[in-house]
Amino acid sequence: WGPDDEDEPRLRGASGPVRVRVPAKINLHLGVGPLRPDGYHELNTVYHAISLHDELTARRGDTLTLTMEGEGTGELALDDSNLVIRAARALAAYAGVPAYARLHLRKQIPLAGGLAGGSADAAAALVACDALWGTGLSRDELAAIAAGLGSDVPFLIHGGTALGTGRGEAVSPVLARPTSWHWVVAVADGGLSTPEVYRELDRLRASGAAGTPLGSADALLAALRQRDPAVLAAALGNDMQAAALSLRPALAATLKAGEAAGALAGIVSGSGPTCVFLAAGESDAERIAAGIEAAGVCRAARAAHGPMPGARVV
Ligand code: ATP
Repeated sequence: WGPDDEDEPRLRGASGPVRVRVPAKINLHLGVGPLRPDGYHELNTVYHAISLHDELTARRGDTLTLTMEGEGTGELALDDSNLVIRAARALAAYAGVPAYARLHLRKQIPLAGGLAGGSADAAAALVACDALWGTGLSRDELAAIAAGLGSDVPFLIHGGTALGTGRGEAVSPVLARPTSWHWVVAVADGGLSTPEVYRELDRLRASGAAGTPLGSADALLAALRQRDPAVLAAALGNDMQAAALSLRPALAATLKAGEAAGALAGIVSGSGPTCVFLAAGESDAERIAAGIEAAGVCRAARAAHGPMPGARVV
């Protein structure tokens, strides 16, 4: 009776560690429609996955545990409220397997930064546990579980550049010839709560101070097809920017510093406070990042590029 005995139950999935990399997202277009009866706003957004990433490692365990290092360590709860744990449990429930794993998160995406870091970690947990447990779900099945965890999570399963509608969870890829876009990501001190930024937007709209809503993403999608950064720069837009600036007026100086450093355009990323800038090329992005840091208007600025794939085993 050796280890090769046919009666020995075979472990499905991976016996060694599974490492998953997941990108941050920015919104090239974020059109926020009216508040729906269910409390969500109707969105028309174009998501874009960039080279700033988190990494999640999954190992076999007798319970479900999470440890972390990097951005947010000591601030972020590692209990059942963490999106990584919620995602692992959601997958286990769907697949009918025990939710046993030792998970370790290496976080570079800032907390509450408007880069969907928590959603990215949830997507990473779905992909990592699917590989660890050998549950073998398709990307579409994982994206369906993802939609129950948060509006941005399905996009972070798919990655690339994609149109998001509904509350953002209905994602369809933007088909375009491969083009790399170069960005500078300026991370702020401290975060902004997404629900609070939505409330501020509703307040500004009620008082007529929010500007005209952007509406459909058609102009942005047409700009992407032209593959010219100057054209894309002119089409970037974010309805949440006015609200983020209202709550965090200092962001105006960050946006100004990026443009002074040579960016083609700068916008607040999602609900902020991270600002992202489009550069003409890779070396421009490095130069602009250095210029923004020298201006002392953010915690850190670094070059990034996109589109990047969604959560994947590396
Ligand atoms: P979005 O752009 O999707 O609104 P964000 O980038 O502004 O998100 P996140 O960092 O994704 O903000 O998360 C916001 C909140 O979600 C955090 O303040 C935290 O309370 C909760 N959260 C739960 N799990 C995580 C996680 N793994 N990483 C980050 N935040 C998490």
